[in-house]
Amino acid sequence: MRRFWLETYGCQMNKAESNALEGQMLDSGWVPASAAEDADLVILNTCSVRLTAENRIWGRLGYFKKLKETRPHTLVVMGCMAERLKGEIKKTVPAVDMVVGTFQKADFARLLGQAACGRHALAAEGLQSEGRGREGAYAFQARHSRKNDYRAFVPIMHGCDNFCSYCIVPFVRGREVSRDPHSIFGEIGGLLREGRVKEITLLGQNVNSYRFQDLDFPGLLEELFRRFPDAPWIRFLTSHPKDFSPALAKCMASHRAMCRHIHLPVQHGSDTILAAMNRQYTRGAYLALTETIREALPDVLLSTDLLIGFPGETDKDFQDTLDLIRAVRFDDAFTYYYNPRQGTAAWKMPDSVPEKLKLERLRELIEVQKGISREKKKQRLGTTVDVLAEGASKKNSAEILGRTEGDEMVVFPGQGAGDFRKVRLDQLKGNTFYAHEVSR
Ligand code: SF4
Repeated sequence: MRRFWLETYGCQMNKAESNALEGQMLDSGWVPASAAEDADLVILNTCSVRLTAENRIWGRLGYFKKLKETRPHTLVVMGCMAERLKGEIKKTVPAVDMVVGTFQKADFARLLGQAACGRHALAAEGLQSEGRGREGAYAFQARHSRKNDYRAFVPIMHGCDNFCSYCIVPFVRGREVSRDPHSIFGEIGGLLREGRVKEITLLGQNVNSYRFQDLDFPGLLEELFRRFPDAPWIRFLTSHPKDFSPALAKCMASHRAMCRHIHLPVQHGSDTILAAMNRQYTRGAYLALTETIREALPDVLLSTDLLIGFPGETDKDFQDTLDLIRAVRFDDAFTYYYNPRQGTAAWKMPDSVPEKLKLERLRELIEVQKGISREKKKQRLGTTVDVLAEGASKKNSAEILGRTEGDEMVVFPGQGAGDFRKVRLDQLKGNTFYAHEVSR
């Protein structure tokens, strides 16, 4: 029995692609190894969004290079880091057998067949020659979730045309490609027929700019609900504010299965920095958009991404960001500080904000946002919400861990998983609600 070990790093898209790959491996007779040390084939599906993400991979490659001395195996590096660095990875770590870029993931089983019959180098060379010529050839898979998942990812588009000046994604994932709606509905139909899936996340680096012939994103959602009127929870990830239309907010308001949660990365609160980031909207436009969304969806939860310490950021720019999060009052935020990425437009800008100041600003930003998140969560104590029960809580098997439609963690006494429960929110500990079930 040939055993494989698959490690996935980075975003939901990488997770969805790894699920698809795992399905391919199982279909072609491979079995999952119980530990990396037992595997005949090790696959690292990598992320390149930050330097820290790549450093983790170099660390893992060092480990597997050593392991190969006692436990020979085929070592494969795929994903965004492979697409960015290509042959450099094999030059740096010769123990790597195959480097598989973004546009070859779908082809992996065929490449593996070649590797299995000893034509290791071929794949890497193939990569070199095919390189970026195959950009438009991203192949969506038929299925991107595991058999037992209650929550499923369904990619609807791939790549990004926005070229935010700090971001490596457009260089490693290529131009935007929208998936054929028939293929999307085929995957959703298959998942719903199985009956386990209770939540579907429509995925893309920028789902709002979905367009297939004359079908745009709100149109795709309307068609989804026309075909699947009993659809479970539907989410989407990730949005770009410049493409988020009032029509989308209206469409969400008219379908209760659309989770009342929107992740809307703003990145910064200063117009000067937003322009330098090439975000293509202003602070004013973003604030107006959040008002439009809240008018259509009064109970919506809003989360965002915030990037601090961008080249040229002044104290005033930073204060503008604090003012913006106080004005919008996000329910949650993912916060980062800027680190230069080779190949991006910002790479050429002097990294002017000292690391120490970046960390100070990040700490202050996190404190302010944490206070807002807690206040908003506390206001919801005593309310009754629907949660998707995911299974026994790790801390106490007599309790269930579930998630609200705002993707918040809720713990409550009970058994079982994979269905919706109504719970009353009683307490808040850290970021987790503690609750009790009121009905099913
Ligand atoms: S929208 Fe900007 S930040 Fe998001 S993936 Fe595209 S380039 Fe990167």
